Amino acid sequence: MPFRPRYTGLIERYRDRLPVNDDTRLISLGEGNTPLLKLNNIPKIIGKDVDIYVKYEGLNPTGSFKDRGMTMAVTKAVEEGSKAIICASTGNTSAAAAAYAARAGITAFVLIPDGKIALGKLAQAMMHGATVIQIKGNFDEGMQLVKDVAKEAPVTIVNSINPYRLQGQKTAAFEIVEELGRAPDYHCLPVGNAGNITAHWIGYCEYSSNSGEHVTAACAHCDGHCKYAGGAIVGNRPKMVGYQAAGSAPFMRGEMVDDPDTVATAIRIGHPQSWEKAWLVKEESGGWFDECDDDTILAAQKLLAEQEGIFCEPASATSLAGALNDIASGKIPEGSTIVCTLTGHGLKDPDIAIQQSTAPMVTVDATLDAVRDAIVSNMVS
Ligand SMILES: *Cc1c(COP(=O)(O)O)cnc(C)c1O
Repeated sequence: MPFRPRYTGLIERYRDRLPVNDDTRLISLGEGNTPLLKLNNIPKIIGKDVDIYVKYEGLNPTGSFKDRGMTMAVTKAVEEGSKAIICASTGNTSAAAAAYAARAGITAFVLIPDGKIALGKLAQAMMHGATVIQIKGNFDEGMQLVKDVAKEAPVTIVNSINPYRLQGQKTAAFEIVEELGRAPDYHCLPVGNAGNITAHWIGYCEYSSNSGEHVTAACAHCDGHCKYAGGAIVGNRPKMVGYQAAGSAPFMRGEMVDDPDTVATAIRIGHPQSWEKAWLVKEESGGWFDECDDDTILAAQKLLAEQEGIFCEPASATSLAGALNDIASGKIPEGSTIVCTLTGHGLKDPDIAIQQSTAPMVTVDATLDAVRDAIVSNMVS
């Protein structure tokens, strides 16, 4: 007899709030249930009285939050008889699609921008046996091609325009509310297609409502899956704050951006697919959008790694980078409880990490003297 039930993934855990029934075959890799870590050192360094938590989504099975959406999307695709899935991707969606397709025994096709995805993500898609189609174009062009080809070919799109993706991803908000006993005051996320910020808002709204109606206008296309009449009502909902990379910030420009560019490749998206929904989320929650330049993003990535022992990929650090800006300016006031989503693991993008590292690395002879000298001269007093 196990001491507690084996955790078998987020669909099983939140079955009553997701569009599955008793005989749905669940395609899961044990995703979800990720740590909500309280930052100990960074609030002291910035000298502000704030509680900052990071939701470490890099600890999902393929290393990003995309697994939460993919378990639902692939489960439903299989239930509906689909034999193949397809996505356009800046990397993490393709890694997740490839893994869940392998688990389900179906085929995955992934379109990625030629040369613009992080090495770890490419390795995953290839290792899981997806057919990788590199296009000589960016994510936005790939997305359009996926939509066009899916009209002709028997393939299910598993990008976040697939409504089941957001249903799976909303569970991150459930986990946060259950651990904090309430919603945070501010929830900060990096924004690319804006699916994840929308999904979190749906999740928080479900927890603050038992009306049995759509809980937010942002989920108007959910076929009623948002209904949650479970009774667990928390008083508050967070202000949702979405941060973009400055070179790829359509929500700041107020229009689509045709040549997005940023070191944060996961959010190098100029034509967000959840454009209207994300504006609704901002309005309903009383939040805002802002942008960070690449240097600020990389500095936040490094700060987290060096001061807290948490390694996330560049795009993920955008949530903390933006939050630190808004805490410094007072827009996020002292006394606040803040959650920053760290969307993907740092190991996804080793190239960028090694390039910007200033950690001392010395090569010495394999002798006791040489190693002792290296320690003495690098000891921080
Ligand atoms: C997909 C992704 C994002 C962006 O999420 P959207 O739902 O497209 O806004 C951010 N960070 C990482 C690491 C991602 O993989």
